[in-house]
Amino acid sequence: MADHKDFLILKTVAEVREWRNNVQGSLGFIPTMGYLHVGHVSLINRAREENDYVVVSIFVNPKQFGPKKDFNKYPRDVTHDLHVLKDAKVDVLFLPDVDEMYPEGFETKVSVTQLSKKLEGAKRPGHFDGVTTVISKLFNIIQPTSAYFGQKDAQQVIIIKKMVFDLQFPVHINVGDTIRGENGLALSSRNVHLQQKEKEEAATLSESLLLAQKLFQQGERNPETIKNAMKQIIKKTTGLIDYISIANPRTLDELILIDKEALVSLAVYFGKTRLIDNCLLNL
Ligand code: AMP
Repeated sequence: MADHKDFLILKTVAEVREWRNNVQGSLGFIPTMGYLHVGHVSLINRAREENDYVVVSIFVNPKQFGPKKDFNKYPRDVTHDLHVLKDAKVDVLFLPDVDEMYPEGFETKVSVTQLSKKLEGAKRPGHFDGVTTVISKLFNIIQPTSAYFGQKDAQQVIIIKKMVFDLQFPVHINVGDTIRGENGLALSSRNVHLQQKEKEEAATLSESLLLAQKLFQQGERNPETIKNAMKQIIKKTTGLIDYISIANPRTLDELILIDKEALVSLAVYFGKTRLIDNCLLNL
């Protein structure tokens, strides 16, 4: 166990169990993959306001990556993260290594079978099984009363809520708004891979989502018309659209007509960097 003066850094499950056995009251938990930014901090701040204790985990989870090179390329900077966590006044950082989470012989998988096949899941097979497996483990290790996730990863939120409901995890799931930079680009650890020009061009993702909202407010209900208008904006850049979806926010099935609400989500490549963003449409 390392004591960072202001908060504990626990690296093993045994250490967390020992700490957890001695604390009572509410515990807010924010799972992350590190390379922390203001989006993460907004979730931490909310957790601190709403709970007696706050635990953050940093674990780049190999099971939710496809090719090994994506996992290796994921940005990491623990020194920077420790400063952020100190300023954010957390109680505990859980910082396990891969062997601690997946010792030799580990073979269990938690899967929200249908929702995990849609949208991001269709493009990144196995990704959400990796997410639900690791979040189940983290919930069992940390035993939070509440956990905090970002709307930035809209499908992840939907899947985690379903997992918690189906498996009756005693954890309340809270969702924080997407935090954006000045030009509207959603903050993401992956943005560090963007060149300056790509960063500017990537602002078109949020521009296209704002246009979707505007068209919907003006009465447009045809998803194809909205998607085409969004495409026109992004096509002016070097961005390569992976998908634009307008789906039912509960089932994630594509809509042919928008009734009362919809989840608009998209994935676009800028160079090798794949960015995602989304917004909700509702009356
Ligand atoms: P990550 O470290 O990317 O796995 O993200 C950890 C948590 O922070 C997830 O619940 C994300 O949805 C959330 N998050 C990431 N980026 C943002 C953002 N820009 N605004 C709000 N939450 C975010």
